[in-house]
Amino acid sequence: MSAAATNRPPPTCAHAQQAPVWGGLLSRCRECGLVATAHRPRFEYGEAYFVEEGTGYDFDSPFARAFDAERFERELGSLEARGFSGSVLDVGCAVGTFLAHAKARGWEVAGVELSEFARGEASRRLGIDVKASLRDLPTGRAYDVVTLHHVLEHVHDPTGFLAHEIAPRVGRLLLVEVPNFASLAAQSEGPRWKDLRPEQHVHHFDPETLRATVAAAGFEVLRVHTLAEPMWSLPAALRTLRMLRALAGPRAFGPDDLPAQGPANAPDWRPPQGLRRGIIAASRIAMLPLVRWIERTLRAERLVLEAQPLGTRI
Ligand SMILES: [Zn+2]
Repeated sequence: MSAAATNRPPPTCAHAQQAPVWGGLLSRCRECGLVATAHRPRFEYGEAYFVEEGTGYDFDSPFARAFDAERFERELGSLEARGFSGSVLDVGCAVGTFLAHAKARGWEVAGVELSEFARGEASRRLGIDVKASLRDLPTGRAYDVVTLHHVLEHVHDPTGFLAHEIAPRVGRLLLVEVPNFASLAAQSEGPRWKDLRPEQHVHHFDPETLRATVAAAGFEVLRVHTLAEPMWSLPAALRTLRMLRALAGPRAFGPDDLPAQGPANAPDWRPPQGLRRGIIAASRIAMLPLVRWIERTLRAERLVLEAQPLGTRI
């Protein structure tokens, strides 16, 4: 969450022509396409953000533990299968969940976290000194892999942040994950999309604007792909089917379509048992071709980009 709670006005692209989106909740640059919130976020990432459902995300709920284990193990497995290993720096590491998975798989881990509460938790859980700022890391130290999980959308000047603070730390690979504004979820749910979060998310990226932002910061973009939410449930299956209405074309959302206030995770979730577990597994298999098609066409909810510093050879 570095640089997130500052008070500078968005958008950060230098272009003057902005078009309102979703009844003025957001604006889209007419020249570069970057989408920014019309709010001027001043969100404080205090303890509540990390433990409460509602404005934040309870990282220790049964749902969050299962959700994070599935997505982070898949991500680390993919990196390792392609020959990446060694050190990993997670920027905006929250309470250290990703780094705990990486550490258990043999990575040397380092973290940066703006929030004092989360930083303390991450330091305690990982047994390392998580830093408050990238500037507090050892001078000149670069890491094999640098990850930003749902950080860049909080940053007021993403290109400057990537160019000046992140790039010097990237040894081999930069991995950025953000919510996908071009996802079927965003385009079908509009202001009720759970990742809108207009008080926290300064920018909303799609595959093109994320690629352009990272390239402008001096990286060579290697891969842009999208991933569906890792957890599966019957409500998730129904939601996926409802999202298909976005394929019919953009819907007109207005100021009366209020942003969702609900929790980002499922407070009452428990691991499914017995028959229910079997039904959920069957629905997941039945829906898999559709989910894979949504991912392949860059319409899934999690937008992931991998890049290397210009001039390096992987
Ligand atoms: Zn622009």
